[in-house]
Amino acid sequence: MARIVMKFGGTSVADMDRIRNVARHVKREVDAGHEVAVVVSAMSGKTNELVAWTRDASPMHDAREYDAVVASGEQVTSGLLALALQNIGINARSWQGWQIPIKTDNAHGAARILEIDGSELIRRFGEGQVAVIAGFQGLGPDNRIATLGRGGSDTSAVAIAAAIKADRCDIYTDVDGVYTTDPRIEPKAKRLKKIAFEEMLEMASLGAKVLQVRSVELAMVFKVRTFVRSSFDDPDAPGMGDFLNPPGTLICDEEEILEQEVVTGIAYAKDEAQISLRRLADRPGVSAAIFGPLAESHINVDMIVQNISEDGSKTDMTFTVPSTDVDKALKVLNDSKDKIGFDVIQNESGLVKVSVIGIGMRSHAGVAASAFRALAEKGINIKAITTSEIKISILIDGAYAELAVRTLHSVYGLDKS
Ligand code: ADP
Ligand code: ASP
Ligand code: MG
Repeated sequence: MARIVMKFGGTSVADMDRIRNVARHVKREVDAGHEVAVVVSAMSGKTNELVAWTRDASPMHDAREYDAVVASGEQVTSGLLALALQNIGINARSWQGWQIPIKTDNAHGAARILEIDGSELIRRFGEGQVAVIAGFQGLGPDNRIATLGRGGSDTSAVAIAAAIKADRCDIYTDVDGVYTTDPRIEPKAKRLKKIAFEEMLEMASLGAKVLQVRSVELAMVFKVRTFVRSSFDDPDAPGMGDFLNPPGTLICDEEEILEQEVVTGIAYAKDEAQISLRRLADRPGVSAAIFGPLAESHINVDMIVQNISEDGSKTDMTFTVPSTDVDKALKVLNDSKDKIGFDVIQNESGLVKVSVIGIGMRSHAGVAASAFRALAEKGINIKAITTSEIKISILIDGAYAELAVRTLHSVYGLDKS
């Protein structure tokens, strides 16, 4: 007997037929004798609808009321799945974040889980009960519902798995694992049997939305054995209940990966914008004068490029922010114009950041050069580059996103099995 957390995303619970299908996946594990906690997302599209309603009600919405509204989608699916399970003879009970409780910090809309009391769930496992938990939500220190940021049910699942010391956390979604790139963009993408935590962390933070970044961090820190697998597979197909090697992708320590490729995957993030400040004085303190106020306004700055003029007196500073933050960033910078001392400010939206990821890069030279060459051959202009030990990120015009992803995917041989 083992203890398992099973998480089902929006498309997996999109309607009653899908919810009944989820119930069959749960029944398989219950029949195998396991203790099961299920975490559910809202039906697909529901959270977007709820978010839009809050904007319609009040553009400058109060984040606590935003949370009260957007957390409701998961309340519905948790209750429906508990009913569907009861209907096939399984003892199941739904749980909202506040009932467990899943305690979070006060950052409404993007809260972090601080503590989960799993004792009541564990006591009820002893009575043969399955817990069906609403993902994406917890209880803030102000005693109000707090949501965990978009895609947050993944994080709920991994955090609960850590809290109840589950043997495994299965993230069921609409793809059968983590692929070398988004299979919706590149049909030749290959499913990975395993991916290292560090790589998955980069993939997620650079745009692959298959797992929320925070869920990967928690899995890494608390050593939660996490699989990504499909809810669309027949729940009773052979091998589906294999305890040690279920179908899907295992997120694991790099030591567990025997054949490490140089490049593991390609990720992309849309809706990036670039801001350039022209003809700044090249003196100490100028970067602080720019990025300090942006940070204070909670604007996430990413790729930064600085050019110095030939005589060294002037500099241009170019950096990226999410498109949604451009107007706010321009206002902040214009408000500090006297302190920063720039000549003109320019901006461009609709850019895409494409990233090449792999821990094998640490020990291989020339990985970046191959990417630049391949993009040049396709006539794709590079606007900015950043690198780390295990990733290269390249900023390009949004129109070339798919071409760039496919080009890089093939350059590193990821489409060959
Ligand atoms: P859920 O609703 O189950 O949480 P998401 O839509 O959040 O599902 O995440 C699954 C989606 O992630 C897939 O449909 C796929 O298009 C996308 N995706 C992006 N990059 C990858 C990747 N490298 N591997 C698998 N899926 C990816
Ligand atoms: N329903 C939430 C969202 O759409 C959380 C999740 O699906 O993980 O962001
Ligand atoms: Mg998701």
